[in-house]
Amino acid sequence: MFIYGIIIAMILYHFILFASIQLRYYAYYVLYLMSFLAMNVSYNGYTFQFLLQDSPVIQNWIQGTTIFLFAIAGLLFAKAFLNLEKYIPLAYKITKGMIWLFVSVMLITVFFGYHAHVMFAIGMSVIFSLYVFVIAFLSYVKGNKTARFFLLGTTAGLVGTSVTALTVMAIIPYSHVGYQAVDYGLAIDSILLSFALVDRVKSTEKEKLLAEISANTDALTNVANRRAFNHFCEQFDSGSQKFYREKLVAMMLDIDFFKEINDTYGHSVGDIVLQKVANLLRSNTKSTDQIFRMGGEEFLILLPDTDIENAQKVAERIRLAIEEMVTDKNGSAISITTSIGMAEVLMEDISLISTIQLADKALYDAKRSGRNKVVLAVR
Ligand code: GH3
Ligand code: MG
Ligand code: MG
Repeated sequence: MFIYGIIIAMILYHFILFASIQLRYYAYYVLYLMSFLAMNVSYNGYTFQFLLQDSPVIQNWIQGTTIFLFAIAGLLFAKAFLNLEKYIPLAYKITKGMIWLFVSVMLITVFFGYHAHVMFAIGMSVIFSLYVFVIAFLSYVKGNKTARFFLLGTTAGLVGTSVTALTVMAIIPYSHVGYQAVDYGLAIDSILLSFALVDRVKSTEKEKLLAEISANTDALTNVANRRAFNHFCEQFDSGSQKFYREKLVAMMLDIDFFKEINDTYGHSVGDIVLQKVANLLRSNTKSTDQIFRMGGEEFLILLPDTDIENAQKVAERIRLAIEEMVTDKNGSAISITTSIGMAEVLMEDISLISTIQLADKALYDAKRSGRNKVVLAVR
């Protein structure tokens, strides 16, 4: 009876979780737990005792049916949770076929009387537990990390089922524990499967986070990319970037005659120069400063909490550092220079992009007036 308390609590818990995260395998898991409960309650005779005292016929039929439903829910859950479509496409097809087979046998055996119905259900549930064990094992071997708790749980279920089967068949001596082993095994299985769910959700969240980071990062230089910049602008304009809103300087930086580097030394050398510039920008700014690669050889740096005079010093320091930076290419030393345009974001500025445009204009002035210099936008 104690086990039922746990199972019911888990059903409620996972049902609430499903309502909030809407992952399909959660629904299957809840279905699996519910059918486990129904199956268990019915073959231990509790349904007869408490609910169906007046209908022994229903009681007879319900035993086989709940066992079938348990296996069907288990297959559905295994198919979705183990991501068979991706890891073992063949098993995906077989599992689908098995689900239909179980449904068909459940319906067809109705015509042969409840005894055949139950016997088929028991026979097929043994096949079911063996099969799920095998696909969980294969799935784990094929590199599906989240299959490990699933595999452990399934093993417990399989051991429990086998011990009970062997006890019933008198192959091992009768004991109460042996007779009840299937209950314990499947209860442990359900609990471990709930760990498996948590594990799976955690790793999915991690993957999502990593994907999010990589979608916002420039692959060559590892600084934030244009997409990240657009996102930042949205947040800034909506007022959610409080810290950056208070005081901010925008610095637009473009490498001078970069095309010549590519033309003279090749694109891959150009790439190395870009990486070195990005590293240099990182080491010459604070961690709260934001660096974006806006396009080819153009970078934007946002400096929060900085006076324009200090920002100009930072820009000058960066300009000098880039000028002094030397890239070695088969003995010939490559040097570059940069032009920088800057603008201060004012409190009354509605959108960040308008300030960036001012910095852009200042950059253009720097280019026009001879390059390798810092120009501050006039407002
Ligand atoms: P200016 O001083 O006027 O800025 O001259 P520039 O040659 O730097 O300007 P332009 O915009 O004409 O050339 C930019 C070059 O940057 C052209 C393009 O081949 C190069 N570029 C853009 N993205 C990359 C990249 O990812 N890797 C490399 N190696 N080169 C790139
Ligand atoms: Mg350039
Ligand atoms: Mg450019």
